[in-house]
Amino acid sequence: MRKRLEITITGLVQGVGFRPFVARLASELGLAGQVANNPAGLELVLEGPAPQLKQFVARLKAEKPAFSHFETCKIVELSAKGLEDFTIAQSQQSGPVLGWVLPDLAPCKNCLKELNDPQDRRFGYPFLNCTECGPRYSVVHRLPYDRAQTTMAGFPLCPLCLAEYKDPQNRRYHAQPTACPTCGPQLSFNSPVSEAQGPPALEAAKRLLNAGGVLAWKGVGGYLLSCRADLEAPLKKLRQKKNRQFKPFALLLKDLEATRQLAEVSEIEAQLLTSPQAPIVLLKAKSSPQPLIAPGCPYLGIMLPSSPLHYLLLDQYPLVATSGNLSGEPLCITEDEAFERLGELADGFLTHNRPILRGIDDSVVQLVGDQPQFLRRARGYAPLPLSLSQPLPATLGLGGDIKSCLALSRGAQVFLSQHLGDLDLPLAQAGYLKHLADFQQLFEVEVTQSFGDLHPRYRSLDLARGQGFLPRFFQHHAAHAYALRAEAQTMGEALAIVADGTGYGPDGQIWGCELFLTKEKNYHPLAHLASFPLLGGDIATKEPGRIAFSLLNQALGPEVALQWAQEILQKSPTEGQIWLQMAQTGLNSPKCRSLGRLFDGVSALLGLGLEVEYEAQAAMALEWALEPDAAQIEPYPMTDWDWFLMIKQLWRDHQGGRPRAQIAAAFHNGLVKAMLESAQKTGVNQVLLTGGCFQNRYLQNQVVLALKSQGFNPIVHRLLPPNDANLGLGQLWMGTQQITED
Ligand SMILES: [Zn+2]
Ligand SMILES: [Zn+2]
Ligand SMILES: [Zn+2]
Repeated sequence: MRKRLEITITGLVQGVGFRPFVARLASELGLAGQVANNPAGLELVLEGPAPQLKQFVARLKAEKPAFSHFETCKIVELSAKGLEDFTIAQSQQSGPVLGWVLPDLAPCKNCLKELNDPQDRRFGYPFLNCTECGPRYSVVHRLPYDRAQTTMAGFPLCPLCLAEYKDPQNRRYHAQPTACPTCGPQLSFNSPVSEAQGPPALEAAKRLLNAGGVLAWKGVGGYLLSCRADLEAPLKKLRQKKNRQFKPFALLLKDLEATRQLAEVSEIEAQLLTSPQAPIVLLKAKSSPQPLIAPGCPYLGIMLPSSPLHYLLLDQYPLVATSGNLSGEPLCITEDEAFERLGELADGFLTHNRPILRGIDDSVVQLVGDQPQFLRRARGYAPLPLSLSQPLPATLGLGGDIKSCLALSRGAQVFLSQHLGDLDLPLAQAGYLKHLADFQQLFEVEVTQSFGDLHPRYRSLDLARGQGFLPRFFQHHAAHAYALRAEAQTMGEALAIVADGTGYGPDGQIWGCELFLTKEKNYHPLAHLASFPLLGGDIATKEPGRIAFSLLNQALGPEVALQWAQEILQKSPTEGQIWLQMAQTGLNSPKCRSLGRLFDGVSALLGLGLEVEYEAQAAMALEWALEPDAAQIEPYPMTDWDWFLMIKQLWRDHQGGRPRAQIAAAFHNGLVKAMLESAQKTGVNQVLLTGGCFQNRYLQNQVVLALKSQGFNPIVHRLLPPNDANLGLGQLWMGTQQITED
């Protein structure tokens, strides 16, 4: 007897090849019915014999397109009403009716098959894609998502592509950026010695890489610089020309097998690497990494190809893939920009004529315990929204000034921009302004209110004011706490432990390790790290020796500090005296209670992070010094967040020749213990862990374990990074919920 199933699916099921997939599956099983998009997802009606219907449901879940995701799937069984064939109902527009844009996705397995099949008409074609994969956010001007609104508008479909595009059974049915060698974009190569178009351009680029050259090439969200990772000469050249001695380079590898040769890969890490989002995953290196790739770092940042061109460029050797710009600056997206900004660095350019509309960096993810944590949420994830439990007025969260990221609410969804860099840099400021306008236009939101950071000198505020916004402000670390509350949809009381770099405090001091009792509508400060003078202000971030001096002076007295500065930093007695005066009088030395800076200072004290090139380098060196038995080491004492005894003991151990790995472990464990004790003292079950210091995987993992072992419910970031990229969401949430300090 024929039955009828009415299936309603909500979640991510539009624009990802779901309807053609369903149509093919129904036809394979001989089922009649209809599928249609609706604003929340998709409605599906099926009629046929019960066993086939059962098979359909099983395969629907097992074989659905890789990027699709069910939030709910409701199935109602009825008697058949006599449908005879399967149809895809026309929605008013061809694309999703969701009203948002999908991220750019790595090639799906079917496209890869075609890419590698000499018989296929798209064999070796770097721009093939389908409804399940390919460029989205980087090529869409505006909604509705239709070819005419993308940068593919200038490439009319050839008859073969058009037939696929119109065929409901084809996986290129309404694939807006679909292309083939006949009708789609083409590569170009140029260098001082040669030029080429089309397939020969790819060959020329590969020859250049092969010979040890540095190639600038147009990736998904902007230009990258690449060279062979197995040759010293190009790596040295790249480091020298980028003026980058220490910051690790990410590697682009062919597949999991190649990855496993260099790094340890768990099952979850393998899933992340091979996911359609294809982020950079920080993996434990098998042997200590090549000093030119990741100096002193036990991890390797590895990504697998995220576009057909990535696949085609890779040969037998791994490539380095680094953004072609200064760290914190936006990617180059146009040819002109690339030639101008990267001309000095590259030996040749591989470009193409499909314009990129938005610069989107590669995302960076690491595993903490067995859960992925974002360090940078960009390509593959942005601009997917976060779903909230209640609709909000149209509001903008302006974010912070480093790792800048905008948050924009529309209804019960918050759209989060990709990583927008460091707003101290003029190019990043221009990028921020562009995205400010673009975001509102793309999501068709008329912003009625905006919120930013309390810091009087944050550029994001000036930039927003210049656009007519009149933002109100929230304290930096409170915004971190509420970002996590919003993300995790936390209800009721929760202790927030905000372990962070620096943020502006309302008393004019530099805050950065703050404990709050948070509730739905208000919060109350409970405790903070004991402060120390930050000698010279911001410059101490680049010269952590200044922090070490400050800590030593306070914990062990001026003689010890002066002697250390003389012996280790080669400071003259006069310079030492000036520092001492600064520490004593506070001259140009604001009080600082940042945990990130404490990490920096301890790292410098142990001689690990005296020379710093990039943000948090010294702090990371301290984490990297840990050994596998770190958790067994007795913690240093810390009472009421005062580090005085901790530094005293740490210094004695260091003087006594105790190995740095053990000292680093005792320091980390001391912080873990302090956090656990705060939770016990507060007695609130939910504990929010947020702030940049929780990028330290040992710290987060140990705190989570310690809290769980004592019956607490630790809450950590899953969807956003713990760092300043989450500030926009926190500001938006605090503003719309009218949260106040009590
Ligand atoms: Zn595909
Ligand atoms: Zn074509
Ligand atoms: Zn922060």
